[in-house]
Amino acid sequence: MELRKDPITRSWVIVGDDTERPSQSGYCPFCPGSPNAPQVIATLNSGEPGAGSVSSMVHPSPLYRIEGEPHRHSEGIYDAMNTVGAHEVLVQNIRHDVELWQSSDTEIGQFLTLAAQRIQDLKYDTRFKYVTMFKNYGQPAGQEFGHPVSEITATTFVPRRVLYELRACRDYYQEKERCVFCDTLVQELRTPVRIVEQRGNYISLCPYASRVPYEIWIMPHKHDSSFERSINSKSAQLADLSSLIRHTLQRVMSVSESFHLVLHTVPNTYQKSNVLQYWKTVDEDYHWHIEILPILGAKAKPYFLKEVYYTHISSELAAERYRKLETR
Ligand SMILES: [Zn+2]
Ligand SMILES: [Zn+2]
Ligand SMILES: [Zn+2]
Repeated sequence: MELRKDPITRSWVIVGDDTERPSQSGYCPFCPGSPNAPQVIATLNSGEPGAGSVSSMVHPSPLYRIEGEPHRHSEGIYDAMNTVGAHEVLVQNIRHDVELWQSSDTEIGQFLTLAAQRIQDLKYDTRFKYVTMFKNYGQPAGQEFGHPVSEITATTFVPRRVLYELRACRDYYQEKERCVFCDTLVQELRTPVRIVEQRGNYISLCPYASRVPYEIWIMPHKHDSSFERSINSKSAQLADLSSLIRHTLQRVMSVSESFHLVLHTVPNTYQKSNVLQYWKTVDEDYHWHIEILPILGAKAKPYFLKEVYYTHISSELAAERYRKLETR
């Protein structure tokens, strides 16, 4: 496998010949005592009664491998590099049938803390420009394992969507010296038609130009560019964020059976060479958030809908429906 860069859109693509990833069968690799358990990288246990532990493990069939150098090279006008990176599985719960939206504040808090620690730790590796956490739930979302897990990847490039966001935030800041996410929140809170819930410092809302029906984001009210730094800090309001995540996922699960969840946080500013120069104002202009994209129906889309997003439910209606749902 190798990474190739599209010279026009500047997006990186993983290219491999016949490297369809093996499907998992047999004993669940993430249940306690599994004979085919992957290597454990880190474990957290709050010690609170009723709450199990969360662990980070090496992905059994990783997209990126930790050894070696990216060896960025050219092929004529093209750019390519090795698929060097990290790919970890975050086992959210030792129980096979307890998902995040069925977990307690303590369990979700533990999961967020471990995610933040792993992201921070991977950022000390200066080969990596970007570290993120995501979760694919349900077959249409490409869920790989039966066990409740999320994943972390560290890459030698910034993924396309995040790069678009970083550039847009930097440009907005250059013009206005303000964070576009903060400005968005001010406006959304003034006329709260798209706000779904607020718990302490954290807000869930349906974005104005949602890409899919019932798209919902979670973000801190107070400006903060780095998820990992804020979760690891003393001022983190973990219980508020945990219950907001549980409520939000309960809402999402009541309108769909499948979703993608992705964390967008600052790129790796330890990667001093050129990234820091390029993203000089990133701590002021970028604002971490979690995006959740529900998948409604698994029908193939006509081609033009792959190029332009089309949503048959407005974000105002989605937010109104979400607000009416009961959460626990
Ligand atoms: Zn399991
Ligand atoms: Zn902000
Ligand atoms: Zn984003």
